[in-house]
Amino acid sequence: MPDVLTHYVTSYLISTRFRDEKTSLIIAISGILPDMDALLGMHRWVTHSIPLTLPILLLIYLLMKDKWRDLALITFLYELHLIMDLFTGPTPILWPLIPEAYSINLDLDAILGNKVGLKGFLRVNPSPVNFQVHSVVEGPVISNGGALFGLLALVLLAAERLSRANVRN
Ligand SMILES: [Zn+2]
Repeated sequence: MPDVLTHYVTSYLISTRFRDEKTSLIIAISGILPDMDALLGMHRWVTHSIPLTLPILLLIYLLMKDKWRDLALITFLYELHLIMDLFTGPTPILWPLIPEAYSINLDLDAILGNKVGLKGFLRVNPSPVNFQVHSVVEGPVISNGGALFGLLALVLLAAERLSRANVRN
């Protein structure tokens, strides 16, 4: 999985495009909800399946129509987590419709020298679904990449706030 910080910060940044900063602190929690399966000793369990989670989220959406904007945002952030996980490890994103987990490898390198160009690949890797319960589940809460992304997000939000303050003055 991308680290928890990356999931949260990504969700927070997207949420602030639609809601105020305080509300976004709460809405962004939806971006880390899929990983609650780790509390049950399993990571990338059915909480990481779009065919299982999307109908539940849509049902909640139908029951609480007056909050449709927030629920649409929460649903989007929840499902975005599953797509982000595809880039770091096998995720049962289409289970049980397709009984495999998938991961994506993406790499693009620049070639500079006597020739200039790009080389790379995009691979979608199927693997067996593994819903085995573990006594210990380990996963990154904050990684180097997540810390860098979090710092970048803070700078971006601070710059945005300064920009808004300048417009008002
Ligand atoms: Zn996850």
